[in-house]
This record gives sequence, structure tokens and C-alpha cells, in this order.
Amino acid sequence: MKTKIWLSSPHMSGNEKKYVNEAFDTNWVAPLGPNVNNFEKELSEYLKISDVAALSSGTAALHLALIILGVAQGDEVICSSFTFSASANPIVYQGAIPIFIDSEEDTWNMDSELLETAIKDRISKGKKPKAIILVHLYGMPAKIDKIFEIANKYEIPIIEDAAEALGSKYKNKACGTFGKLGILSFNGNKIITTSGGGALISDNKEYIEKARFLATQARDNAPHYQHSNIGYNYRMSNIVAGIGRGQLEVLNNRIDARRKNNLFYQNLMSEINGISFLKELNSDFYSNFWLTTIVINQKHSNTTSEKLRLEFEKENIETRPLWKPMHIQPIFEKYPKYLNGVSEKLFQNGLCLPSGSNLTENDKERISEVIIKNLK
Ligand SMILES: *Cc1c(COP(=O)(O)O)cnc(C)c1O
Repeated sequence: MKTKIWLSSPHMSGNEKKYVNEAFDTNWVAPLGPNVNNFEKELSEYLKISDVAALSSGTAALHLALIILGVAQGDEVICSSFTFSASANPIVYQGAIPIFIDSEEDTWNMDSELLETAIKDRISKGKKPKAIILVHLYGMPAKIDKIFEIANKYEIPIIEDAAEALGSKYKNKACGTFGKLGILSFNGNKIITTSGGGALISDNKEYIEKARFLATQARDNAPHYQHSNIGYNYRMSNIVAGIGRGQLEVLNNRIDARRKNNLFYQNLMSEINGISFLKELNSDFYSNFWLTTIVINQKHSNTTSEKLRLEFEKENIETRPLWKPMHIQPIFEKYPKYLNGVSEKLFQNGLCLPSGSNLTENDKERISEVIIKNLK
């Protein structure tokens, strides 16, 4: 059996061990410690944002963002439908109601016209949405200007889900730093990983202080254990943050590698009919190309995304369909949704290709062979 080529696997730099060893050598194995503080500082410098709270996951970061914005039982929260379920689950943790918005054709992110339609409709039904969760999917920035213009007009705060978009930029400013709050993920398949972790980011230091407080069981300032709030155990540990510090040192390098993968695929398939790519619309958009994705137009192709996926599987190469939209997920289909058919069409015809920053030339050869054999 040929070795497995993964969709997106962890890619260590070597320096992670140095920071993890430091934590062991100094016995900073207890949850918090210098790696956590330094990881937060280094991340905030990288992103050019005031403050960062390192947390146990991106999902935990989103949950705290909703709590900090006061989202509670019965409130409505707007969310991109075309995303991973972790974008929407925390809305339901709060007893709130997700309102799903479909994608636009060009960035695949939240459609601004549908967003405004939804806001007007919810207001006319008597409830103004409490927040908007805007996802930058596959690393591609959403149309920040358009979306924020609408959100500002109706005075609804935006939480940016930049879990897949660390290092992506819009008009040269980091994704995740536009909204009242932003979240990142360092899960194993993301552009950099801590083996599992996340962060909440904001220019409002009070929000981040509050996040740190809530993430460490909401202890009041007293010598004994005193609690006036419900707390959570959502903090990143000092060991895990050591991995993050080593990874952050090579983030730019990882972005370069993923962008090169994207170019490799575009060059490889430039002559093939019926294949389209998710592209940066103009120089305002800078994607980390976390994953390279293609869409197969069945009318103009001799294959389908599912057939191609199975051909890759035969060669022990992992590919995956695009995210199944939330509005057609069994657990979420009962919630209100504003649709245009775009995300369902993408789900039917799209495929994520191996995109790790650690793909070798030999891996690329094997991938090329499958593509040439099945598409040319
Ligand atoms: C990975 C991911 C998350 C969740 O991050 P975790 O760290 O796995 O909890 C949230 N949103 C999107 C879009 C993601 O891809």
C-alpha cells in the first residue's frame, strides 16, 4: 500500500519541542504559565490586535464570544450556513436560535444581500438578531466592506470565525480583526496547530479580560473560591501553548506553502474543462488557501466530485466533499434560513484537495497522476 496523503496534516517546525521542554524543565505543567502569556503576546503582535486569549478550542472561543456579547436564551444569531458545525453549535449552547444565511457565488462566504433581507425580516417578525457570525471559509476573506456596512447600519455586532483563515487578509488587515470579536482554531488540521486549541481576539481589552475570567471558572477576587458567575474550563494549557509558539514562528512559511499548493493545482488543471477554483477576486483579498478546493461542472466534465474522490481513495489519497451546509444538517434544518441555492450546489459538486504545507514533490506527482488519468 502506498503511504497515505492526507488532506491537511500537522506540520511541525522542530522548535515546538524547545518550548514544551522549557515548560517541563521549569515545572510549568500547571495550566497557565509563560508559554500561554508569550503565545498570546506573539499572536497579538502577528495579528496587530490589542489582545488575545488562548483557549482550549475555537469552539470554546465562539461560545465565550456569544456570552460576552450577551447572547442568551431565545435570542437570534445570524450565521453563515456554508461552514463547519462548530460555527453554529455554540449558538445552541446558549439556548439561542441560529439563523442561517447562504453563500455568494464568488467568495462562497455570507451573501450580503441575503444578510440584509434576513435582518429586515427578523426585525419585522419582532426580533432583531443579537450578533452575526461571519465565517472566512477555506481561508478566503468574506466581503468585509459590504457585510460590515449592513451590520453597522442595523447596529449588530460581528464575530468573525477566522478558524480557517489565520494569516488571511482583507485590504492588508488580518481576518479576525475587523469584528467586535474574532476566533481562531489550532485544531490538528488547521494551518498551524497546537494539537487542539483556539483563541479569542479583540481590540477591546475588557472583552478579552472577561474571556480569561470566564475561561478559568469565573473566580471572583477572594482568597477562597468565590463565584458570582457561571464559569468554564476553557483555558489553553502551558504545554499546548508551547507547541503554538513553535508553530507561530513558521506561520508565514506555511501560508507560502499552501498558496503554492493552490498554484500547483491551478496550473495542473488550467486546460481541463468543467473545473473551477475559488479565487481571490482582486488585490483586496489575500487567502491563506488553507485548503485548495475545486468545483466540477458536471455538464462540462467527464467525471463528478464523488467519482474523483473515489479515484483518489484507491491511491490512498484523502480528499473530501466541501462542507455540508448547516441548513440541510439534520440537527439544524428546523431553524430559519435565507437561501439562494449556492451552498447546496457547491456541496454537490465540490471537492477539497490535499493541501498540507508538508506535501512532497512525490505526493504532488501521485496527485497529478490521478487528475490527469481521470480528467484529461
Ligand atoms: C475548525 C473550525 C472551528 C472550530 O475550531 P475547534 O478548534 O476545532 O473547536 C470553527 N469554525 C470553523 C469554520 C472551523 O473550520
